[in-house]
Amino acid sequence: MATLDILVYPDDTLKQVSEVVTDFNDEFRRFVADLDETRLHAPGCVGIAAPQVGRFQRVAIVDVSANPRHKSHGLMILVNPEITAWNGFVKGREGCLSVPDYTGNVMRAETITLEAQDPHGEMHEYHCEGFEARAVQHEIDHLDGLLFLDRLVSRRKDLFQRKVYKK
Ligand code: ZN
Repeated sequence: MATLDILVYPDDTLKQVSEVVTDFNDEFRRFVADLDETRLHAPGCVGIAAPQVGRFQRVAIVDVSANPRHKSHGLMILVNPEITAWNGFVKGREGCLSVPDYTGNVMRAETITLEAQDPHGEMHEYHCEGFEARAVQHEIDHLDGLLFLDRLVSRRKDLFQRKVYKK
């Protein structure tokens, strides 16, 4: 496995809309493994999406289980994810591998239902809430070329410089 280079804002390619995955082959699964390796390489990182490493396919990985306070499914590998239901709204703080120097407050649905394929093409349905639901929505945004910076509640009051940048 290998770690991949992360595209960092304001790299314009992060705005590209990613394509649906149609080939569920070994090369694709190797890429997914490398993508997760890249996520694990970044301390405290709960999610990553394929376009962040310059592969414009609809793949996102979320795992918020490192913090036992979060209700979670553990490692979720989401291929061609589609959110099918949203409930409630809550403001919360987000960070991003592609925006290393800032965090920001973003409104997200409190609970979501989504459908996604796994790396073998099998379809699954998930119900997510709280921080996991937030992370899934953040990662799916990447597949549509959106960053949390595009969704800040207020650019003036809800963008924060990171005090410590952990390497
Ligand atoms: Zn992100």
